[in-house]
Amino acid sequence: MPEPTAKDLIEKGEWADCWICREVFRRRRQTLRYCHKCERGFCEGEHGNFSRGVGMCIVCGVRKADRR
Ligand SMILES: [Zn+2]
Ligand SMILES: [Zn+2]
Repeated sequence: MPEPTAKDLIEKGEWADCWICREVFRRRRQTLRYCHKCERGFCEGEHGNFSRGVGMCIVCGVRKADRR
């Protein structure tokens, strides 16, 4: 079976790791928010935003904003 994504875990009611904390800061922080685009977890407010039921990590959010 493939590794469950943060989306899979959070939809089951489990905590997932923020991927930005893990990849960029080499630390582990858990979250109940996941990015709608890349399906990875992020810290709400710090590494992403959640509005109208849709979460987006800063990396996906920045990429979208760049494409004006
Ligand atoms: Zn984080
Ligand atoms: Zn993302």
